[in-house]
Amino acid sequence: MSVENDKKNSEEKSISYDKSFEGFIGNNAIVMHLKEAMKHDKVSHAYIINGEDKSGKTLLALEFAKALMCVDENERPCGHCKSCIQADSHNNPDIIWITHEKPNTITVDDVREQIVNDAQIKPYAGRYKIYIINEAEKMNVQAQNAILKTIEEPPHYVIVILITNNAGAFLQTITSRCVMLSMKPVREDIIREYIMKKYQIPDYKANLCVSFAQGNVGKAIELAKTEEFDEVKTEAIHLVKYIDDMEIGEIIDAIKKIEEFKISVNDYIDILMIWYRDVLMFKVTNDANSVIFKEEIGSIREQANRHSYNGIENILNAMAKARQRLSANVNFQLTLELMILTIKEN
Ligand SMILES: [Zn+2]
Repeated sequence: MSVENDKKNSEEKSISYDKSFEGFIGNNAIVMHLKEAMKHDKVSHAYIINGEDKSGKTLLALEFAKALMCVDENERPCGHCKSCIQADSHNNPDIIWITHEKPNTITVDDVREQIVNDAQIKPYAGRYKIYIINEAEKMNVQAQNAILKTIEEPPHYVIVILITNNAGAFLQTITSRCVMLSMKPVREDIIREYIMKKYQIPDYKANLCVSFAQGNVGKAIELAKTEEFDEVKTEAIHLVKYIDDMEIGEIIDAIKKIEEFKISVNDYIDILMIWYRDVLMFKVTNDANSVIFKEEIGSIREQANRHSYNGIENILNAMAKARQRLSANVNFQLTLELMILTIKEN
């Protein structure tokens, strides 16, 4: 079911969407799909944008909404009409970003007030009314049932975009009525080129950011912009180099210190994981070019000799497990102690 053609449609045939999604990199299949939908006036009433945090979901939704709402007669989005300017500052009255008071739940009242009832009112100025729900997995069952009505029988001008890191949390009745856009990791060379150019960072830093981000553009950008990143990297390397001579308490203090920086403990553990992946890679290939921390090749070689394959694998598994435990809010101290013990024992 596509949004009905409006009477201006015949005049809109020549509008170009070539420049839409310009600020968005990667995920070309999704971008192509949305551009084609706009070009051929086959935009759906409901979308799910599914992907991990910082993978660009919100930016994708914004760029889409902006192109849909732009009033330029030739090129959309033009970037300078009133609608575009309002969209960029999240002030477009027809692009509605759903808010919720409870931090972990989007309630039925949130959905009724901001979407179901509001959708009955015609757009303020634009062709569409676009409702964007961030963290839509936080809708409870009642809220999902409430929004279902709007998705099932939408007024012709309504588009609902559900942004989520877990589309599995939606009722089948919701997913079956939405076009699913699943974000894929972006190729490392594409991200590297982008952040080097945009943030003017040297290639060794770009390599580290990219390797660290694992195809997640937002994460790579965040790291490229974080001035403390080099400092954190230095701390992390110091830790893995001297971990065998340090007491557990000392190590935990060192890791706690990381919270002073704008980098999370999870991200810090990721840096440690890159280190041990380097050690493993060097052990396998004996090739300095295969590692990320090239400038530390001496220490990496030494650790590659010292640890067995099994040992390195145990360490990497322990780190992955620690990340899981921390995101499940298992006791911080205990989680880190277990991880550090595994490093020391292997
Ligand atoms: Zn515009």
